[in-house]
Amino acid sequence: MLKISRTKVGLFLECPRCFYLDKKLGIARPGIPSFTLNNAVDTLLKKEFDLLRKNGEAHALMKKYKINAVPFKHPKLPAWRGDINRFEGAQALHRPTDILLGGIIDDIWQDTKGKLIIVDYKATSTTREISLEDKYKKGYKKQMEVYQWIFRKMGFEVSDMGYFVFANAGKNRPSFDGRLEFELSIIPHRGDSSWIEPTLYKIKECLSKETIPPYSEECEHCRFYRLIRGKETKH
Ligand code: SF4
Repeated sequence: MLKISRTKVGLFLECPRCFYLDKKLGIARPGIPSFTLNNAVDTLLKKEFDLLRKNGEAHALMKKYKINAVPFKHPKLPAWRGDINRFEGAQALHRPTDILLGGIIDDIWQDTKGKLIIVDYKATSTTREISLEDKYKKGYKKQMEVYQWIFRKMGFEVSDMGYFVFANAGKNRPSFDGRLEFELSIIPHRGDSSWIEPTLYKIKECLSKETIPPYSEECEHCRFYRLIRGKETKH
């Protein structure tokens, strides 16, 4: 069985070569520092929705956006959220490729028909209108669709409609005073996870090969590496 995380699926979509180097040859990209402020927002939002989850109450934000749902209660939710082990999360086996696809979710709501709604928290600070269309947010949609696919594979009825809860830190204040104020908003996304199964087959095929996939011309990192190699060879 091959364990693949949602993040590695994203890496494969971005560049099969980097994915191959990581998953097959164990050469991962240099890491980046964790987004501690974003993690703090996630932690507090989880606590906020958990308070309502206990009593099956809807959040004011759900009411504002007319979302007929409540935070979903399930004994495995802490594990799916990575609260117990941040490398576990929710997992589902794709039998034809023997790939165990896993992902750490932020939250799940349940609508009045019992369908699960995947929810992801995002922290930002922008004066522009928040949209999922800009370059760096395209991955958010794929992220949501992987989670929808995993929970369907786990046997749950999952709505195509998922929600991003954005916490947008305001900068329009005279001073910091030791606190940030966030405006919360919800951005809906109707997911289509039909791309996932074909991608799992491609991942399996990629890793079955002995040759490293080609680098992407657009990528500055490999370009940088090739420039160095070129100089080294010359000298
Ligand atoms: S092209 Fe970029 S993303 Fe692909 S392997 Fe090279 S560094 Fe990684």
